[in-house]
Amino acid sequence: MKLGVSSCLLGNLCRYDGAHAKDDYVVKILQNYFEFVPYCPEHLVFGTPRETIRLVEKEGTVTVETTKTKKDVTHVLNEVSYECARQMAHDELCGFILKSKSPTCGMERVKVYQEINAPSEKKGVGLFAQAINELYALLPVEEEGRLNDDWLKENFLMQIFAYKDLHQFLQTKPTFNELVQFHTSYKYLIYAKSQNSYKQLGNLVANHEKKSLQEVLNEYKIGFLKAIALKSDIVKTYNVLLHIYGYFKKEISKEEKEIILLTLEEYKEQIIPLIAVVKIINLYVTRFDISYLKSQKFLNPYPKELALRSSLKAYK
Ligand code: SF4
Repeated sequence: MKLGVSSCLLGNLCRYDGAHAKDDYVVKILQNYFEFVPYCPEHLVFGTPRETIRLVEKEGTVTVETTKTKKDVTHVLNEVSYECARQMAHDELCGFILKSKSPTCGMERVKVYQEINAPSEKKGVGLFAQAINELYALLPVEEEGRLNDDWLKENFLMQIFAYKDLHQFLQTKPTFNELVQFHTSYKYLIYAKSQNSYKQLGNLVANHEKKSLQEVLNEYKIGFLKAIALKSDIVKTYNVLLHIYGYFKKEISKEEKEIILLTLEEYKEQIIPLIAVVKIINLYVTRFDISYLKSQKFLNPYPKELALRSSLKAYK
């Protein structure tokens, strides 16, 4: 599985001063699961080391300027940023991790300076980040800084694995029946993001309008990618857990029910992490051999070693 990454985050010496901005989480943890494809538009345009650049607002338009020599480099950097972004289509990426704060790679809150001596405002987007967003609006994209937030990290990685899963599924040239199975396996994962999205996708799969298989697959792909881009929250996740509990509640004792419901409440109150609840549920899914739940991606969305659901802060 390939992940695009701003090259300096991988420890490559491509920053303006010849340094790197190695990110430990990317390099030490994610490299066990992904093949990285590095991109550095600035190095391609200006070489390394180079003069620093920044976003500058001129008459309402944001341009890119070299800091000391005040040269406008917007056009050339934009060209190369789009060239790199177009290259991404050949690299078959499942997601992208961008370097924060950069006038090229930053995806939000990049400093924008004024021509006159006025304070900068954190309201810009780097040119490469803009190009990626324009060409691949549904690709999972995050910044390394935002991945320090467990909630954003959990959502991002869940999105990447689902993104890859869908693309691999579509490559198998599925039948209508296989699409129904795929859709069903994502029921609770998508429920935890938006029940409405699941219903809309369900209507597509039901195909009351008798569209061709290819038409349905194309529309399903877009709807699915939009759905997995939504963030889940504690209340929706709690509701999903209650639904799942409904599959075996009649089979267990009153005491067991009390323990499970208390556990769900403790999750909702952020006293215990999601993984603690999922472990208990998986126990009952195995005990009662509930094949419908065994196939649910919600219960096993990514490699457990990533331990994303072990943090209390992974849900809010
Ligand atoms: S932030 Fe982007 S452009 Fe700047 S050094 Fe890193 S990869 Fe290159």
